[in-house]
Amino acid sequence: MINLAKKLEQIDGKGYKAYKQIQGSYKFPDFELLIDYVQGDPFASPSKIRILIARSKTAFLQKWTNSRQRKIRCEDMIVREVFQAISNLKNNVRGSGKSGLIMIDKPGQKVLERTAVQIGENDITVCLSIGLPAQGRTILGKEAKKIFFQLLPEILRHSVFSVKGKDIESAIQLCDQQMAIRSYMKERGIIAFIANNSILPRASGVSDQPLKGAVPFQSPKEMEVSIPVPHRQEPLKGMAIYKGITLIVGGGYHGKSTLLKALEHGVYDHIEGDGREFVLTDRSACKIRAEDGRSIKKVDISAFINNLPFQKSTKSFSTENASGSTSQAANIMEMLEAGAKTLLIDEDTSATNFMIRDARMQALIHKEHEPITPFIDKVLQLKQDFDVSTILVMGGSGDYFSVADRVIKMDHYKPYDVTHEAKQIACQIKTGRKHEGGEKFGEWKLRIPESGSLNSRKGKKSKIACRLSEIQYGLEKIDLSYVEQLVDESQTRMIGEILSYIERTNLFDRRLTVSQLLDFVENKINQDGLQSFSAHHGHQGELAYVRRFELAAALNRIRALKIRE
Ligand code: ADP
Ligand code: MG
Repeated sequence: MINLAKKLEQIDGKGYKAYKQIQGSYKFPDFELLIDYVQGDPFASPSKIRILIARSKTAFLQKWTNSRQRKIRCEDMIVREVFQAISNLKNNVRGSGKSGLIMIDKPGQKVLERTAVQIGENDITVCLSIGLPAQGRTILGKEAKKIFFQLLPEILRHSVFSVKGKDIESAIQLCDQQMAIRSYMKERGIIAFIANNSILPRASGVSDQPLKGAVPFQSPKEMEVSIPVPHRQEPLKGMAIYKGITLIVGGGYHGKSTLLKALEHGVYDHIEGDGREFVLTDRSACKIRAEDGRSIKKVDISAFINNLPFQKSTKSFSTENASGSTSQAANIMEMLEAGAKTLLIDEDTSATNFMIRDARMQALIHKEHEPITPFIDKVLQLKQDFDVSTILVMGGSGDYFSVADRVIKMDHYKPYDVTHEAKQIACQIKTGRKHEGGEKFGEWKLRIPESGSLNSRKGKKSKIACRLSEIQYGLEKIDLSYVEQLVDESQTRMIGEILSYIERTNLFDRRLTVSQLLDFVENKINQDGLQSFSAHHGHQGELAYVRRFELAAALNRIRALKIRE
């Protein structure tokens, strides 16, 4: 500590490069400071530091972290506390550029495993980014001292050190409840649960905060289940959606898409007060949508598309510019390949000709002239052949009534079970359609990606930059704007790190199928942790957990992706 103060005095007034001298570790009374990386100038991306705190000095007892999920919850809590403490800070550090900046990887409404805070057996590690102060390129040693000796201790005093046992307990209880519901669902074949009084709509199209004054969710009696949960007397009541084919119908603007969106996000756990704490969906549920313009590499879409003009093969279909329907077919096949067990589809973001083809169109355009087998003729086979469920928003066509196991009507943001009515209508009003999907869904070929898929220049390390919806990987721009269950920029960075790991370790040379590759990554995350993919040791504080499905989505959108013959 004295050491650091002395160094800062010595380099005061010198050129910015002299800051490199402070890299290293320093003991403070209540924590250890590790300065891992020092930025090149005050405008460059900020310096990386870690703070190590003995757990014994905090309220984070062993019992709060005795399972992986509980530990993640505690880590999440610390990130939020530190973020809040930084926001409340009176930070008067002077200087140019990013001088005086203090940052932690900011979490949103979801609880995601993050590298920003890591709780170990005996220590808590907090990763921060700071802007080392300078005037122009001249080091402001006194200002730097303020950060290390005044602001950092204050941040910790108002976060890690001040968290109370009862606050940790309540976060842990919510975690236990969410886990209990998820395992209850698994045991009984429930793929989605929405507790009564949940708040589904969000404040705006660009906000993940709850909408104020929203109509709370209320399950129809026919679909209501009571789930016993720990830490509360009364069981939790809400709507259960079982495996199978579920249709969400209703007039425009009555809340169909909002319900489906909530289910998409239900693969993640939400924080207290979000309104979706008890909106929980099968962790392997994947949103499927049309995405014209994307590239597709040797995907077997023959279950849905056949006899393309000029005999273009659909057993191994590639294109640089997919149409609405081919992209939607590829999205389904790729997510099945990755292991999805539930598909979530909204008519708003689907290709109409992929979803429906009615009797009149069947009469006019003969099957031989229509490459597309619509989803309606395949949805039942997905369920029967592969135990894959579908939850589908469809307000525009009643053709799906015949194949649905359950029909939910949204009316003024309230759900009603109209299965019986819909089935009766299906009997009374025949669609006159001919089934076009054959007997079986059909198998698909396993794909093996090849090295050279990641577009780097030979021998050179690929430079990676990430935004929420895009990864710039070397020369390759991976567009993730339509990967809707990717919710946090740190997840995108995680994908970037994983891709880089795959390239660095020549993982493609092992001839793994896509699904084996995803297994490998998933196991490594579970065993060695998120940061284990990084080439750097020390600070690795801006990564968050990503599902195998979003990783697969990124892989599949690499335009240079090569698949073995
Ligand atoms: P649909 O898909 O049926 O056309 P949406 O789900 O897009 O309808 O919802 C239409 C509007 O209603 C959206 O602005 C949405 O935020 C709002 N909304 C949805 N559910 C609720 C609710 N429970 N309470 C208040 N507003 C809601
Ligand atoms: Mg809609």
